[in-house]
Amino acid sequence: MTRKFLADRLDNVKESATLKLNARAKELKAQGNPVVNFTVGEPDFDTPAFVREAAKTAIDKGQTRYTPVAGTDALRKAVADKLKRENNLTYAPAQVIVGTGGKQVLFNAFAATLNKGDEVIIPAPFWVSYPEMVTMFEGTPVIVKTTAGQGFKISPAALDAAITPNTKWLVLNTISNPTGEVYSCEELQALGEVLKKHPHVYVLSDDIYEHLIYNGKKFATIAEVVPELYERTLTMNGASKGYAMTGWRIGYGAGPLPLIRAMAVVQGQSTSNPSSISQAAALAALEGDQSFLNEWRATFKKRRDLAADMLNKASGLSCRVPEGAFYVFPSCAGLFGKVTEEGKVLETDTDFANYLLDKYHVAIVPGTEFGAPGYFRISYALDDADLKRGCEQIQKACAALTPANGKIASGM
Ligand code: PLP
Repeated sequence: MTRKFLADRLDNVKESATLKLNARAKELKAQGNPVVNFTVGEPDFDTPAFVREAAKTAIDKGQTRYTPVAGTDALRKAVADKLKRENNLTYAPAQVIVGTGGKQVLFNAFAATLNKGDEVIIPAPFWVSYPEMVTMFEGTPVIVKTTAGQGFKISPAALDAAITPNTKWLVLNTISNPTGEVYSCEELQALGEVLKKHPHVYVLSDDIYEHLIYNGKKFATIAEVVPELYERTLTMNGASKGYAMTGWRIGYGAGPLPLIRAMAVVQGQSTSNPSSISQAAALAALEGDQSFLNEWRATFKKRRDLAADMLNKASGLSCRVPEGAFYVFPSCAGLFGKVTEEGKVLETDTDFANYLLDKYHVAIVPGTEFGAPGYFRISYALDDADLKRGCEQIQKACAALTPANGKIASGM
């Protein structure tokens, strides 16, 4: 009998759907198709010049060797300073770990804490990697569905009902990928009231879109607004989205010392320190003048308004206007049962995504990938001309569909 080579651990773990779709859209584009790619999960801006300069200086100064596993002392201190300055959270630098992207910080946290059968509450729609990482470490993702009517946010009652003696973590992602929705202070406080009753539950707060918030709304994170949860919260953030530094791979987490130490053990036996050059760049990003963010926010807000407006005008779609990130998350349920020019009946968001890509050269991510069938995600982190052209294509695609019985009627 031949022994299975690949680990059982991967049997139920999926490849990142968004990365896969992004790759397919790029491939079609490379073949000469005029594809508008709405699947990207990164800002289209350049990394700020002062950050790039800091990286060049680090290279020239020979900052090219191993650093401490959890990051340089300077960067851990800069993260602690940032958390104090912007989030009113007090952490010692030793309570901070810097990883190769926010993704590695989350991975470390789950690797360091999950035993078989531990439950992790993940409100849906969710970022695609949470359940997959939990599954990889033999934890059980407990998906709690939310509705557009609730702003896609978990309610205190739903949270309470989902908690069991096996619950280890609640994952809270504000500002959310894929919905762009933001939890208010009051909403976080209400969740905090539930969590106070269950002292065994830890909170993983993924704040990676923090700086991309519109309408003048103030960002809030749970350890800040519910101080009683400080001792059992991992506050995670990073350079990728707010500083247009996705390729540099810098994320960080701050939390209770024993947790951070355990995460550093995982990191020390896998990647060790994140790139020394990227750490120097992230240090400059955190400590430098943040005013460029105002311009970025204004640009994103304009694009968000354009996208939401055009999608709401497409027949059969309806789209909320979220307050942050660079995503909108419209419903396409109004199209189900309608028929394409080729005679195919659209039954799911995935059918709609395939129809859009094949016939109208527009790539979107179906909501099913985020645990929310009937919706789809559009990233508006692309230039105005492409954004407009893509939304026009979607409008055309929706207008070209015919009601199932309408087609028969017109044929009689
Ligand atoms: N968390 C959320 C919600 C994200 O959308 C992403 C990236 O798409 C990450 C974390 C990880 O980002 P990175 O590993 O680039 O820091």
